[in-house]
Amino acid sequence: MAVIEVRHLARTFGDLVAVADVSFDVPRGAIFGLLGPNGSGKSTIIRMLCGVLPPTAGGATVLGYNVATDAELIKPRIGYMSQKFSLYADLSVEENIEFYGRIYGLSPEKLAERRQAVLDLTSLGNRVTQLAGTLSGGWKQRLALACSLIHEPQVLFLDEPTAGIDPVARRDLWDLLYRLAGEGVTLFVTTHYMDEAERCTEMGYIYNSRLICLGKPDDLKQRPEVTPAGTRRWEVDAIHPPEALLALRSAEGIRDATFFGQKIHVLANDSVGERELLGHIPQGEHASAREIAPTLEDVFVTLTRAAAERQANGNDTPVVASKSREGEAPAEPPGQVDSPLKSARQEPRPPGTVSEDKRRERPASARFGFGFLAIVLKEFAHIRRQPTTLFFMFAVPVVQTFIFGVAIQTEVEHIPTVIYDLDGRSHGRALADAFENTSTFEIVGYVINEDSFRRALTSGRAKVGVCIPPNYTDQLVRGEQVQVQVLIDGSDSQVATTALQATNLLGLNLSLAQTRPFAETLPFVPARNAAGRVAMPLEMRPRLLYNPNLESSYFFVPGLVGIILQLVTLFLTSFAIVREREMGTLEQLFVTPVSRTGLLAGKLVPYAALGFGEMCLVLAVMVFGFGVPIRGDLWLLLGLSLLFLMCGLGLGLLVSTLAKSQLAAMQFAFLIMLPSVLLSGFVFPRSQMPFPIYVLSFGIPVTYFLEILRGIVLRGADFLDLWPQVLALLGCGISIFCLSVLRFQKQLT
Ligand code: ADP
Ligand code: MG
Repeated sequence: MAVIEVRHLARTFGDLVAVADVSFDVPRGAIFGLLGPNGSGKSTIIRMLCGVLPPTAGGATVLGYNVATDAELIKPRIGYMSQKFSLYADLSVEENIEFYGRIYGLSPEKLAERRQAVLDLTSLGNRVTQLAGTLSGGWKQRLALACSLIHEPQVLFLDEPTAGIDPVARRDLWDLLYRLAGEGVTLFVTTHYMDEAERCTEMGYIYNSRLICLGKPDDLKQRPEVTPAGTRRWEVDAIHPPEALLALRSAEGIRDATFFGQKIHVLANDSVGERELLGHIPQGEHASAREIAPTLEDVFVTLTRAAAERQANGNDTPVVASKSREGEAPAEPPGQVDSPLKSARQEPRPPGTVSEDKRRERPASARFGFGFLAIVLKEFAHIRRQPTTLFFMFAVPVVQTFIFGVAIQTEVEHIPTVIYDLDGRSHGRALADAFENTSTFEIVGYVINEDSFRRALTSGRAKVGVCIPPNYTDQLVRGEQVQVQVLIDGSDSQVATTALQATNLLGLNLSLAQTRPFAETLPFVPARNAAGRVAMPLEMRPRLLYNPNLESSYFFVPGLVGIILQLVTLFLTSFAIVREREMGTLEQLFVTPVSRTGLLAGKLVPYAALGFGEMCLVLAVMVFGFGVPIRGDLWLLLGLSLLFLMCGLGLGLLVSTLAKSQLAAMQFAFLIMLPSVLLSGFVFPRSQMPFPIYVLSFGIPVTYFLEILRGIVLRGADFLDLWPQVLALLGCGISIFCLSVLRFQKQLT
């Protein structure tokens, strides 16, 4: 019975045809080799057979299960070694093996037994604690093999297992494959080495996404198309092979001549004997020729040319299949290729396949959370091995908190001020002192001429210049109005605004002090205070709540908790997933029976836990480092943080479904972080934003969490005060999370 049956399988990527109308069978216990140059579609076929890439047309079954509909039933029964060395480089040999064992749901006893078995098979026994990333190519491949064998698969798919490893390691690996085949495992191997095709029991040659020939290597060599009747093959050893090749190609009776290493393989008419052949070559007397049977390379070269000619003539019959000697499950002979069976979707059961019983079986991956523990353990192993992650997680937020809490002070004090005193008498000095006595201004110098007054401002040494006019004292004493020029550097709007306000206030207060003695003597005044003294008719009494000293750390540090929480969850989750996608290990995971929920939760929970721990750390720094007390309910705060955590994780997951590389993930993450920092009200008050931006800021989850944070921490708000924000955050969380979970497929598309 055929273990793998492929019928008219096709896959396109947009306009690109990666696999076109491929049909073949693989009998049980075979070593089936799929040979073809790079880009011919080998990996695409393997991915479709492993159920991680849906076919665009045609269908296939593996172990009787349809790859399009029953992929999850296939996965526990097959092993897959993808083309890249897809191991976790930062995990040790045994950690890699154990991870795969757990992912396949092996019990601890079974895992211990299998672990020993695969270690013995691959001779990795004395390297168990070595990190996978430090193994050499051949040993990495053995480890990958060990991982893909841990669950005793019946079929093993190996995508170019010998690419890039040295000849000795290659031979050892093939010995291993023979042993496995001897134990009854069916092997499906792709390669672009011709010599490896000879080692297979069955093989197919794929060229330009089409299967050109199929059969046992020996049978293929016997095919009449390869050595047509009336011709013979020769191997010619000449002194100058390039010249000899040119001469032979133009000689009469010679059908084809190609290089084969240093030698030339010639297909010549029967009429051409050894003497005639050598006679065509310059210095033929020093050359030698012997008749040979065709090699597989001859087969491929001949058949590829024939196929190219057929395609050019529009006469496109794809496969040349050799008759199977034992008459077992033959692949379709050429004439039958266009059989009416078209698509697995229209006709879900290619011949001789899944019984109804099998189809009703429930795959392990349908179990909720299957594989969760394996992934969680693995993620923590990654975190442990990556000290930079831990640094990023715990040191950076604390540093950030201090930067925002200490270095960034938005309250403006000690504005450098110069005095240009042209008066020089008591009232002038009193005015200078009045400026000095506010904490807003700090006198950095007295200037004595117009030029140095201007220069103090243009050089930036002073932000404010006060020019006291020459007859200041005289005019005051005479009861005339006097004008004092105050120049303010407007380039920093915050400093300028504060200086302006303080100047006006100072002017008002000084005027009041000046008028009071006169007013006291009047019979009627606008108003008197409780002590009977003249006073302003209206006194405003503003009182600052929650942050009486107007310390900016009160404003920034709680907000920082939200920003950091989002930063960490967003970056870590998206990177943890995209890194696996980039390394190729995600593809490897997709071929295991791990469930979608198990994979997702296993990936998210560790980072959620880290994010939460980190938030507690930042809160502690806030309370103990900056003395910002939490006025509200801590438990409410922590509970709502969990809600916000869901948004961050969801966003991270969303990024990971959009980004194909870590660089792209970084760019997406920044794209999300920028508005979160600038528009959420973390730095700039939202109420001051232009209306469209204000509306936009409602779409940013951090906005709500910042309001919740500041509400609970600074104002002691409770749930009743915050329910609109909580509701909005819940809405954001659920929609982001659902969107990203839906987008995250256990498939490569
Ligand atoms: P092989 O394994 O034989 O080297 P592949 O199966 O990897 O070839 O690729 C066959 C063709 O399909 C190539 O041209 C490749 O660029 C294209 N291809 C493979 N995977 C994708 C993909 N995910 N998206 C777009 N094109 C792809
Ligand atoms: Mg490939």
